[in-house]
Amino acid sequence: MKAIKVENLKKVYNPYSAFSKVALKDVSLEVEESEFICIMGTSGSGKTTLINVLSTIDEATNGKIQINLHNLMTMSENEKALLRKKEIGFIFQNYYLEHGYSIGQIMHNSMKLAGFKDEEEIKRRTDEALRLVDLGKYQHKSGDALSGGQKQRVAIARALIKGTNIILADEPTGNLDAENTVKVMDILKEISKTRLVVLVTHETSLINRYADSHIELIDGVLQSDTTVLDVEGYKLASDKDMDVPMFLQSDAKHTGRL
Ligand code: ADP
Ligand code: MG
Repeated sequence: MKAIKVENLKKVYNPYSAFSKVALKDVSLEVEESEFICIMGTSGSGKTTLINVLSTIDEATNGKIQINLHNLMTMSENEKALLRKKEIGFIFQNYYLEHGYSIGQIMHNSMKLAGFKDEEEIKRRTDEALRLVDLGKYQHKSGDALSGGQKQRVAIARALIKGTNIILADEPTGNLDAENTVKVMDILKEISKTRLVVLVTHETSLINRYADSHIELIDGVLQSDTTVLDVEGYKLASDKDMDVPMFLQSDAKHTGRL
């Protein structure tokens, strides 16, 4: 099963106004269940728009999107909210930890929202997720009192604890120094062995080091990049015919990999 399938996705902001903006043009993409895929691109290229649409935070204007086996285009708002809570873990650049809660409570809230009721199970998963991000001893500490790197690790644990097979992360290391960036990326890499991690970043060094595959957005158009990056193990299509998104010419269409 493909974790994500996108066909001819188009996103227009303010479509009926003089300020309308086409943020995504005809994006098609298929992603496998467990891999580490990076979405790269300069500021304004549409990365956040794409990941927000995939996470159902935002809505596509046109096109088909399938997340796990759900067709987003035919789902009600309630169904999408449920999908978001139960099947997608989201990690933001600014962490967005709920203020005034201990880390244990933040984990608890996340699991309750995802529909978990068994307190034993919640405790077991909390211990496990916090241990994985190396914050096992911090359960009783307030989220507000943590450093940026620690906050982001809590945010990863909060996404992870629901047991979703899809983790989406929008520039999760954007506010972190090099040391914490490596810690966070190492954790995400570990996670990607058993589930899908889609990571938005504009830092190409991270892509070289961590990504199984990558895609690039330029001005809302999806392409693969043969010149800047050559991710080991993947043969990329030639860049002769630039009218056709390159990944459609390559095996990626079938394998989800570039
Ligand atoms: P990135 O994450 O790659 O920096 P975004 O997806 O945030 O890019 O933005 C893509 C384009 O869409 C940009 O030109 C941006 O200004 C525009 N945009 C983003 N959000 C909105 C919005 N809510 N309303 C109008 N335009 C938007
Ligand atoms: Mg962005």
